[in-house]
Amino acid sequence: MKIKSAEIVISAVKPDQYPDAALPEFALAGRSNVGKSSFINKLLNRRNLARTSSKPGKTQTLNFYLVNELLHFVDVPGYGYAKVSKSEREAWGRMIETYFTMREQLKAAVLITDLRHPPTADDRMMYDFLKHHGIPAIVIATKADKIPKGKWQKHLKVTKETLDVDPEDPIVVFSSETGEGKDKVWALFQEYMDR
Ligand code: GDP
Repeated sequence: MKIKSAEIVISAVKPDQYPDAALPEFALAGRSNVGKSSFINKLLNRRNLARTSSKPGKTQTLNFYLVNELLHFVDVPGYGYAKVSKSEREAWGRMIETYFTMREQLKAAVLITDLRHPPTADDRMMYDFLKHHGIPAIVIATKADKIPKGKWQKHLKVTKETLDVDPEDPIVVFSSETGEGKDKVWALFQEYMDR
């Protein structure tokens, strides 16, 4: 997709702050530092639109990006950061649960994992949560440039098996460094928007 405009429209913590627009929406989730901001920036051809906001001390918000006046990306705060307090973790859980269970505009959740490593227990929990709620998921295995191409299929298999990925959920090898997988992701988004 040719990106004509991309801007943050709101950082929301509760539903009455979500944009009203009935535009199709994709929510992006992943462990802190997995490469989620880089993924968003790469897809939107922006250097620094999405920034890592999951570090301690930062407010945990759902960041809504309006793209081409056509769709929303929702940047979900990263999980799995060890130093987050129990109360912060619980607040995160409530915010995520509310969003994913009520948002009618949501077309699919994008779960970002690291192709180099097997998905973590937190990744599995996130994926299971999505499946429990019947939410279509697209799995993105990023940082592919960090391993030789000859090993991609082997690592992809580990990712699929560890998450027990539903046969209906696509999984894409990605790199924010090289742009690998970018066209495929946009084609998938288009497909989900047309459903
Ligand atoms: P976030 O916390 O999930 O938003 O992660 P960031 O997008 O901030 O990325 C975390 C670190 O991984 C940064 O140093 C990025 O430059 C690096 N990174 C992210 N994606 C890639 C990738 O596809 N390839 C490589 N080589 N590095 C990446």
